[in-house]
Amino acid sequence: MTHIPPGFSTIDGELGIAGRKASDWVGQAGDTPLFVYDRELIRQRISTLRSLLPPNIAIHYAIKANPLPELLRWIAPLVDGFDVASGGELRRSLEVIDGRRISFAGPGKRDVDLQAAIAAEATLNIESAGELERAATIARLIGKPLHAALRINPPFEMKASGMRMGGGARPFGVDAQQAPDILQRMKQLGVAFEGFHIFAGSQNLSAAAVIEAQGRTIDLVADLAQFAPRPPALVNIGGGFGLPYFPGDTPLDIRAVGEALGERIAARPDSLSGTRFALELGRYLVGEAGVYLTRVVDRKVSQGETFLVVDGGLHHQLAASGNFGTVIRRNYPLANASRYDAVDVEQVNVVGCLCTPLDRLGEQVTLPVSQVGDLIAVFMAGAYGATASPSGFLGHGPAAEILA
Ligand SMILES: *Cc1c(COP(=O)(O)O)cnc(C)c1O
Repeated sequence: MTHIPPGFSTIDGELGIAGRKASDWVGQAGDTPLFVYDRELIRQRISTLRSLLPPNIAIHYAIKANPLPELLRWIAPLVDGFDVASGGELRRSLEVIDGRRISFAGPGKRDVDLQAAIAAEATLNIESAGELERAATIARLIGKPLHAALRINPPFEMKASGMRMGGGARPFGVDAQQAPDILQRMKQLGVAFEGFHIFAGSQNLSAAAVIEAQGRTIDLVADLAQFAPRPPALVNIGGGFGLPYFPGDTPLDIRAVGEALGERIAARPDSLSGTRFALELGRYLVGEAGVYLTRVVDRKVSQGETFLVVDGGLHHQLAASGNFGTVIRRNYPLANASRYDAVDVEQVNVVGCLCTPLDRLGEQVTLPVSQVGDLIAVFMAGAYGATASPSGFLGHGPAAEILA
């Protein structure tokens, strides 16, 4: 229980989430497994973040981290915009936010997706010369302006990132060398040029690495701005803010990132004097606010090791099983939610109910003596949980989700 995120409590010996006992949330959902997201923790996270960032930085929510409709409705007024990466995400976003506050990135946007985005006047983050032509044709056909930003595949990567999104051949955005030609073409096509989008990496805990990537991003954009049809109104410099999922991880020093970014923006060249900068964050805004609750179905021993078999697993929490973008499997923070104040005394393996050896939620974790019927909480479940897991696998069905 060493690295449980802040904001949780003990109520009558149980884990408390948003002021209620874990078992109350299970009662409300009707059954296990379920995800509970504490809306107040999300609000606090965003307000703390704003207090540590330079005043005029826009915060966008990358909704792929958690697109639960109620959560989108809650977060929409707290952020400056949504970043979406599919036609489905666009539709969900349009239910709660105006199209002008949405930007749409992602390779492989189909014509129907482009058309929906253009009709809503969302900003398209253009990922290739071909996509620009398709989008311009559709905009002409439906008689709408084409609000477009150019996504650049940066010639550098964000060091120490969990997932790298730049620095080599990538399907995302256009290489910086191709940008001048495409910007020229945007001018010919009469595109409503909005700015640039650069995303260099994800899940980063190193302030130095984030600061370096942000500096290089702003330098790159300052270079490219001279080729643009008009000065960029908004430059999305990516995000990549990571969370401390594992023992020994240290939280990202946002204060240091904010101070460096403030200085860097203050010293920006004239070509960016009227530009606003945006960060796009997914996991950092919502990841720590979520808990996955699952119940112990069986307790057994094999070759001297104790196994707690739960009714959830990788079909809901693929990331916690170590099968979503991780190289070495490590345990997410985990606790016995029914005996939250009991002393951790025994070493166990917490495994899911799927008939595959991949379905492990906790290996060699120390917990209080746990019995069939106890609730197990897996923390850090607010981002890339339900939405990034194969809920159809083995037919157990999806988990309930509650915005508390
Ligand atoms: C996935 C993604 C994000 C969000 O990443 P997090 O690690 O959740 O912050 C932001 N921008 C782009 C372009 C992405 O693909």
